[in-house]
Amino acid sequence: MNVFIINCGSSSLKYQLFNMLDESVLAKGLVERIGLDGAKLSHCPNNKDRYEIETEMPDHVKAIELVLAALVDEVHGVIDSMDKISAIGHRVVHGAEDFSGSVLINDKVMQSLIDNISLAPLHNPPNIMGIEACKKLMPSVPQVGVFDTAFHQTLPKHAYLYGIPYEFYQKYKVRKYGFHGTSHKYVAQRAAAMLGKPIEKLKIITCHLGNGASICAVDGGKSIETSMGFTPLEGLMMGTRSGDIDPAIVSFLMKKEGWSLEEVSNVLNKRSGVLGISGVSSDFRDIEIAAEKGNERAQLALDRFDYMVKKFIGSYVAAMNGVDAIVFTAGLGENSPETRYDVCKGLTYLGLEIDTDKNAVRGKEADITTDSSRVRVLVIPTNEELMIARETYEIVQ
Ligand code: AMP
Repeated sequence: MNVFIINCGSSSLKYQLFNMLDESVLAKGLVERIGLDGAKLSHCPNNKDRYEIETEMPDHVKAIELVLAALVDEVHGVIDSMDKISAIGHRVVHGAEDFSGSVLINDKVMQSLIDNISLAPLHNPPNIMGIEACKKLMPSVPQVGVFDTAFHQTLPKHAYLYGIPYEFYQKYKVRKYGFHGTSHKYVAQRAAAMLGKPIEKLKIITCHLGNGASICAVDGGKSIETSMGFTPLEGLMMGTRSGDIDPAIVSFLMKKEGWSLEEVSNVLNKRSGVLGISGVSSDFRDIEIAAEKGNERAQLALDRFDYMVKKFIGSYVAAMNGVDAIVFTAGLGENSPETRYDVCKGLTYLGLEIDTDKNAVRGKEADITTDSSRVRVLVIPTNEELMIARETYEIVQ
């Protein structure tokens, strides 16, 4: 049984086709600049040459049509007909309080997604467009929604409520939702498998450190606390996002700079974080290089990032009254021994000991602690696509 996974952005679309018998990837690819000049499909079939095509793609329907044509193409294809696609799994960013797990998409689900647009105005509309395009092109294939927020629906109320008048939660559902749920869930499950223990018996802190970054406390397999909030702006400082700041800074800067709401939001989302502090880049590799060359602000950006990760870990140890394992994942977490070392060197009070040789690993699963360490520290490459494929398969089964 083959499952087709789609992650739709406003002008881009990532996809993978999985054979669920062995969870192998038959093909994957990316469409960029949908609706813009220079739209391009890059299709990577397994065991075949990469195929690229630049052509007009006014909308997601056309983009998905081209992807499907590439999948069944005689030369570049990996299946002989579209009938070989048994289900479609969509990454959906915001499920609000309506979805605590993945669901088969029907009219009622679509209505909920539409109702929740105000909570994720940038992300949910392209997700909806992708679902509608697939419905048009493959009306008889079941579609499943896998939500970034769903894993965090187990947060207790005292963790997800903000200290603002309760009526805003009642009226507008203003609360912490959390994101990257598919990734946190995947790596927490892998961590339990690597440790050879049932997840129900483990306290795990998962650190998804990429361009977007979030941390999650997974107690007995359930998310009980996470750093992103009502939007993915809260929590850790990120590539370009500020993370936690005093909310009074917003009105202060608006007054001082004469900014509109859009302008201040743009600064906090796109010009802040490690880019804002370093003035170098939002890419941690560029910042590490600049810091090595003596750029003090680049070093400051890295120091502040590592410090925040450490502080969140400490607070999540408190939230769970203990921790068995800490997981590093996503671009930076998987590939930066320096970040992992800097974060962990301040956690020796937990009985945590990093093995520097083991920590040299990049992009591979590994336990990077000494044998005597009381807390395991694991590097686990995330695989959100596989998690979406698994959930889709499970639901259509
Ligand atoms: P992601 O959003 O998960 O794709 O992660 C992207 C971030 O990971 C970027 O800021 C990259 O600079 C960072 N990253 C990827 N590879 C490395 C590496 N080898 N060393 C440091 N940072 C890396």
